[in-house]
Amino acid sequence: MAPPTRIGLAGLAVMGQNLALNIAEKGFPISVYNRTTSKVDETVERAKREGDLPVYGFHDPESFVQSIQKPRVIIMLVKAGAPVDQTIKTLSGYMERGDCIINGGNEWYENTERREKEMSGLGLLYLGMGVSGGEEDILLKVAAQVPDSGPCVTYIGKGGSGNFVKMVHNGIEYGDMQLIAEAYDVLKSVGKLSNEELRSVFSQWNKGELLSFLIEITADIFGIKDDRGEGYLVDKVLDKTGMKGTGKWTVQQAAELSVAAPTIAASLDSRFLSGLKEERVKAAKVFKSGGFGDILTDQTMDKAKLIDNVRQALYASKICSYAQGMNLIRAKSMEKVWDLKLGELARIWKGGCIIRAIFLDRIKKAYDRNPDLANLLVDPEFAKEIIDRQSAWRRVVCLAINSGISTPGMSSSLAYFDTYRRERLPANLVQSQRDYFGAHTYERVDTEGSFHTEWFKLA
Ligand code: NAP
Repeated sequence: MAPPTRIGLAGLAVMGQNLALNIAEKGFPISVYNRTTSKVDETVERAKREGDLPVYGFHDPESFVQSIQKPRVIIMLVKAGAPVDQTIKTLSGYMERGDCIINGGNEWYENTERREKEMSGLGLLYLGMGVSGGEEDILLKVAAQVPDSGPCVTYIGKGGSGNFVKMVHNGIEYGDMQLIAEAYDVLKSVGKLSNEELRSVFSQWNKGELLSFLIEITADIFGIKDDRGEGYLVDKVLDKTGMKGTGKWTVQQAAELSVAAPTIAASLDSRFLSGLKEERVKAAKVFKSGGFGDILTDQTMDKAKLIDNVRQALYASKICSYAQGMNLIRAKSMEKVWDLKLGELARIWKGGCIIRAIFLDRIKKAYDRNPDLANLLVDPEFAKEIIDRQSAWRRVVCLAINSGISTPGMSSSLAYFDTYRRERLPANLVQSQRDYFGAHTYERVDTEGSFHTEWFKLA
């Protein structure tokens, strides 16, 4: 018979199982439950193997709920959408007023707001990716710890704000991964670097401004040999990227809020196009007969210079991508009156999560310097970094274009920068066209007011 535990966890796939063990390892007895009961047994056995950790498994939801000390806190880690609703329905029948469910999974933020209302009608508390009062201690201990910055957990804000922020975090993650993949493509396809050379370049990059989890694992990947045959594993992996939906939600929200997020959108589009493997194979044949090889030109840059330029292009593009993500969070925060603190978000992303990077320190400092910063690009430090890197950035994008290598993330980041930094854009012409065919009116540079011209009469 299990003692009353401090906390419960429902949903024992990859995330749930690891979090349950992590919590137990920190000394908090935990009850666990999963719809498919074999995963409960698997988790309990793993807990035994890994040091007799205090993990108590239950096959039925009622005894699971009752094993937790009141007021109960249950963390859920199940698939977003209907599975979360089904799990809430299963568990809430046995829960009592004052008990709390924390959904630790990714979730569309409006679902969180709806559930919060529904649950409060039953006297239950509901949090999306948040921290519950009594269990704060557990989450603080379980979270990644960063020296000088504290644990990577915070109360984000009310309603669905936690889920919204996590969604944008994932959108930024899509951007980072795409930019790294483009750097790899240019170095491999144009620069003809071997996997061993790539491993050494990425390991070197991981010692400087690009130091991050994703750069680190990328270096590892290049060094791993195929265990089923000759060569390296990365070369045997099909060039088709999967996705679970958070990147798409990020781009949809950016459009909804009229926030430009071209780097993140380009990463999503690249995943869509990667999925069309069979079509791409056919298209390659069509264009080969038209004189196109896979690569159009040979490398026109010295290898060491190419590597250095690509590093700079990657870093400058990354600044643009984070600027877009942060602006999206700010726009939503203003719309929903969430009052989110952008610097604090950069702080909690510094450890434990996929986008953890030394670079986030600079973002935090930028918002500490000016919480109302209009765009990361105009923070004095980031502006200088971009200015210092723009020649290399342009060279890499030009080289890629001339070689027929697509670098949608780097190119759209550069276009974002060039559009944002220009005082006058050709938008005057678009507005003139709109007024010509649709009488949409226009403003003038020299006088206040709204004007309409019957252009066709003057043509
Ligand atoms: P997952 O594949 O997203 O979900 C599997 C879990 O959902 C299993 O426990 C499964 O139970 C349960 N489930 C599915 N349909 C259900 C239903 N209709 N009713 C009840 N339970 C149902 O698992 P995951 O990868 O561990 O992720 C869990 C959450 O964390 C997700 O929201 C995910 O987006 C988020 N997340 C995942 C990662 C990651 O790297 N994997 C990273 C960050 C966040 P059965 O065993 O019974 O099928």
